[in-house]
Amino acid sequence: MYGKVEQDRSSYQSPSHGQASEESSCRFEVDCYLHWFFRKLLYTALNLALKLANYHSHTFRCQHAAEDVLSYVQAARDAGMEIFGASDHAALPDNRWPEVRMRFDELDAYIEAVQNAAQAVPQVQVLLGMECEYIPEFHHYYADDLLGTRQFSYLIGAGHYTPYHGEWINSFVELRTATHLRAYAQHLEEMMRTGLFAFIAHPDLFGAVQMSWTEEVAACSRDILAAAVDTGTPLEINGYGLRKVPVSGAEGPRPPYPWRPFWDLAAEYPVQVVCNSDCHHPRDVVAGIRENQELAASLGLALADLSHLQPIAVNAHG
Ligand SMILES: [Zn+2]
Ligand SMILES: [Zn+2]
Repeated sequence: MYGKVEQDRSSYQSPSHGQASEESSCRFEVDCYLHWFFRKLLYTALNLALKLANYHSHTFRCQHAAEDVLSYVQAARDAGMEIFGASDHAALPDNRWPEVRMRFDELDAYIEAVQNAAQAVPQVQVLLGMECEYIPEFHHYYADDLLGTRQFSYLIGAGHYTPYHGEWINSFVELRTATHLRAYAQHLEEMMRTGLFAFIAHPDLFGAVQMSWTEEVAACSRDILAAAVDTGTPLEINGYGLRKVPVSGAEGPRPPYPWRPFWDLAAEYPVQVVCNSDCHHPRDVVAGIRENQELAASLGLALADLSHLQPIAVNAHG
């Protein structure tokens, strides 16, 4: 499937190599520039024409974010946002990793908070979601309980933890070796193949621990991108990374993610992207979205259409 892309790339040799005259080389450069300019213009226009939406947000329940859904939806309305997805860190039936997520017995109150916010702010379409680790033993919980009985609008797949030799390692600090990176890519691929997740959050989070772009990092990235294309799963360009403490990369300070070389590579694949703020405070409800849409536009990355996701049902009679 990627043979063509590779072939196209290998033919990206400038005609100025070999016998071509200076004039034809110059014309080639002008053509390239015009092509780049019009493509950027087109994608920028398309992106700006899209409804302002954010599908990634948190609440106080995860213990590292502030305030409840209503404050976020009010902030979304005030920012002119039309679609807002609540996606706090998923409650898990066995309450594992309790320090960064709501307890299982808080799930009903979370759903009610999303419903109440949708009711109170009718100007915004409010979606009910959660950001989930993929844990095979909870497949039915995600599929039948959350997406089934409880009618969640969508789930986000995320690899904050990576299964490795029967244990879970913290992806933000432990994806240091080629083996760990391979395990992360395999985990994301398994997650995508379940079809449970509307998109994958911050696939490039290894930028938090990898200081330079190596062959191993590129191989891991290619595996993730290939799986995203193969399964039709959009990847998120995450705005939260832009607000985090920069890392000291080999080329100087940069956000831990989005990590630019990952998205440069993504441009070689027909992958779709979603730009979200991943807000942990209502003031950040739109933070980073336009910047990341600009990045997508400049690279010719297509924004995913998530209009099939249904807003939470509200009681028409209050
Ligand atoms: Zn996350
Ligand atoms: Zn998040």
